[in-house]
Amino acid sequence: MVKILILGGGFGGIRAALDLNKKLKNKILAGQAEITLVDKNSYHLFVPALYEVASAYGVKRDPFAVRLKKTICIPYSDIFSARSGPASGGEKINFVQAGVSAIDLENKQVATEGGEMLNYDYLVIALGSQAADFGISGAKEYAFQFKNLEDALLLNQKIEELIKEAAAGQRSQPIKIAVIGAGFTGIEIAAEFARCVQKLAKTCLPSEALAKESGIKGRCERIILLEAGPRILPAVSAGERDIILKRLTRLGVEVLEGAAVEEIGGNYIKLKNGKRLDTDLITWTAGIRLPDLLEKTLALPLTEKPARGGSASGGKKIKVNNGLELDGWPGVFAIGDNTEFIDPKTSRPIPALAYVAVDQGKIVAKNLLRLIGNKQLIEYRPFYSVWIAPVGGKYAVAHFKDGFNVIGFWGWIMREVVDFKYMLSILSFKKAVSILWQEITLFTKND
Ligand SMILES: Cc1cc2nc3c(=O)[nH]c(=O)nc-3n(C[C@H](O)[C@H](O)[C@H](O)COP(=O)(O)OP(=O)(O)OC[C@H]3O[C@@H](n4cnc5c(N)ncnc54)[C@H](O)[C@@H]3O)c2cc1C
Repeated sequence: MVKILILGGGFGGIRAALDLNKKLKNKILAGQAEITLVDKNSYHLFVPALYEVASAYGVKRDPFAVRLKKTICIPYSDIFSARSGPASGGEKINFVQAGVSAIDLENKQVATEGGEMLNYDYLVIALGSQAADFGISGAKEYAFQFKNLEDALLLNQKIEELIKEAAAGQRSQPIKIAVIGAGFTGIEIAAEFARCVQKLAKTCLPSEALAKESGIKGRCERIILLEAGPRILPAVSAGERDIILKRLTRLGVEVLEGAAVEEIGGNYIKLKNGKRLDTDLITWTAGIRLPDLLEKTLALPLTEKPARGGSASGGKKIKVNNGLELDGWPGVFAIGDNTEFIDPKTSRPIPALAYVAVDQGKIVAKNLLRLIGNKQLIEYRPFYSVWIAPVGGKYAVAHFKDGFNVIGFWGWIMREVVDFKYMLSILSFKKAVSILWQEITLFTKND
């Protein structure tokens, strides 16, 4: 039996598993290969909609946040029962829910936090990334991270607490929310925070009189988006940046460019230019890095890149060749956010995006079978020039091939279509429609 082990059930890992499963059934290896996917969670997290959970408004509270979770946490059992197993004519994908604690490339073994040892003949590393703090003092301790479900639920809860505080007359200052890092993630969360806080403030501050009594004059919130670089989104065109900036301003988001952070405290941000901002809530969306586990894995070929801010922590990724295989380790592949791939056209690393991870998952499935069949690996040719940036409510800026834009409500529709297409690629039609419906009914309440 040939054992294929996939670490991580994110965008890359899921695609590799499903494609391998589909391809194996038609090959000589049918019945002789075993695909196992390991993830610490029992669900695949639809990260692009995380900002909606963090800023969801008007959702009936329940201690387990069941409704919110249903929209972005897709059980692996739903994915694999729809697309694998005898019913679909494919092989079975084994799922192991466990945290990976060590990878031993020499002995072809992976250890789990529960002490289990998993052997493999072929390995795909798709463990994603973790937030990079660039060594900034206080970033880990005082800023809210924004990478997983728990982070989003925590942010949602904190915002509601702040508004309730204001409604109860316990504040003499506006609610100040800072988002550090004005990439696509920072922009979408800052814009949606603005919508959510304005809505919540309206319902929680019952009267003008109470607002005056609590000392809050004019607006009761301040949303600040900080970017260390000279401008937000350096990779987009000046026109597109302008449209996004105007939209943010209209929503009441203050954008500070060239605002490099030096230190973060419990309720303040100190900038390198000497300025200090008082804040109630700080969200960190400034960058990603290799998960600690992979950085500590011996023999893993890593890139060495000086991190922003001069710290030694950020920047490292797994180095792969054109076939997404690790040099010196035949049969070991790495895809998605934990990998650095240099675009031969630009000589620059390609961006960490969900659809890039999906594409790489597809290539790895093909290459694994080619390797087993003693064929030459095919080259991965990156494509990443399409993006859709939601900027608050039913509004998005979409960029397609040759700089074609769809802006506003239709941009948002495009985004919904893209999300739905992804759901259809991993779920049955019924389940995909159910998720889309829940998303639309729940997340448009603050639009
Ligand atoms: C807030 C936010 C918004 C984003 N929005 C967009 C967007 O709109 N469009 C877009 O294209 N991209 C977006 N991205 C980027 C996109 O989410 C990533 O590029 C994509 O998730 C990478 O896929 P992946 O398979 O490499 O890793 P992930 O999807 O992160 O999957 C990694 C998997 O590994 C598992 N894992 C991690 N460590 C362990 C361990 N030790 N043991 C077991 N399992 C483990 C995790 O549970 C997870 O399931 C966004 C990212 C963030 C943070």
